[in-house]
Amino acid sequence: MLSEAQKEHEMVSEESGGGGEGGRGCGRSCLSKCCLRQGAKLLLYCFSKIDEDLCLPVPKVQPRVSFLDRLLEEWDDRKVRGLFHHDIAACETKVLPGKHNFIIVLIEGRDLKKRPTEFRIDEVLQPFDGDKFNFTKIGQEELIFRFEESSNGKAGYFQSAPIMSSSSPNIIAINVSPIAHGHVLLIPRILDFLPQRIDCQSFLLAMYMVKAARNPYFRMGYNSLGAFATINHLHFQGYYLEVKFPVEKAPTQIIATVGSGVNVAELLEYPVRGLVFEGGKNMLDLSDTVSSACIFLQESNRPFNVLFSECGKRIFLLLQCYAMKQAHGKVSPEILETRVNPACWELGGHFALKRRKDFDEASEEGICKFLAQVALSEQEFQLVKESILKSLSGGPAGKKNTGEML
Ligand SMILES: [Zn+2]
Repeated sequence: MLSEAQKEHEMVSEESGGGGEGGRGCGRSCLSKCCLRQGAKLLLYCFSKIDEDLCLPVPKVQPRVSFLDRLLEEWDDRKVRGLFHHDIAACETKVLPGKHNFIIVLIEGRDLKKRPTEFRIDEVLQPFDGDKFNFTKIGQEELIFRFEESSNGKAGYFQSAPIMSSSSPNIIAINVSPIAHGHVLLIPRILDFLPQRIDCQSFLLAMYMVKAARNPYFRMGYNSLGAFATINHLHFQGYYLEVKFPVEKAPTQIIATVGSGVNVAELLEYPVRGLVFEGGKNMLDLSDTVSSACIFLQESNRPFNVLFSECGKRIFLLLQCYAMKQAHGKVSPEILETRVNPACWELGGHFALKRRKDFDEASEEGICKFLAQVALSEQEFQLVKESILKSLSGGPAGKKNTGEML
């Protein structure tokens, strides 16, 4: 909370003579305890839980610089500093003609520079492994700001607020291999070394972030293990893209109302099968409902992707089985050759392609064919859908499933 942070700020200022960047730690200025808890002072954005929960209209007194403006400004600064693997603004982008208008961007050789996936693809829940890459190993220059709840109900920025020695900050950092402007990662409680696994509290934090952006073109996403998360350290992603996503345009049909009025709808006429959640008494209701569905899926060993859309008012829960099909040799060689890993963005209709040929020859038909390989079959989706709904209404299928993925 800020009041404590301010107290701490005064203490740290006295100790260090009020200046400098802390100057202690391992010397690499990293995001581990060694450097974070030794007087590191980082830009902090405090979000207001009160504003967001009550779904108030945009307050009269806005923070002077909005959350999203500042995020993009800081992101552009990291670009000037040369921290990205490629210049996304210089990458060719096009919207494909057709019914869905898939968006494609050409980033040649993207995955060659990406960190390799270092865990099993057939288990959605895996313990955190300290020997593998995690986000505490990145440098502080990749950090955009900390993202914490305001203690006085007011949103805003605090330049170089120090970190309490006991706290585990929520971090927003750049994605060094971006697929759109402002592509960032949200790493909840970074020093707690949480594995890639949804919990209600972290899911709600992502909801606060997408809401704080106050712009429907800033979306957030989540990939479970087995659905193309590449790092087993809890993180969400977000970026700014000024175009409607194909999945956002797909028609839906309400199939149930759960909790305190959260509507669950099924996606229609879209090549990926999934559910859309909206409504409810407030944001917390919606957040708790979707995170419960995610927790049910991960405990059932079902890979899934989440897309936070419309400032957190519509949440897509998309199901896929591509990694297992791939592992069982059930994907055609032409599709494998494209090396497209379908994560939340691809399922939503925004594709980063790695080969000039695929970009030039891309068509709606080709993308639909690819997504048909990614999606669950109609029959399987119906079974999963029923078990999700039962789990949300507290039915007997709400607990453990068989754990089979295919
Ligand atoms: Zn360090």
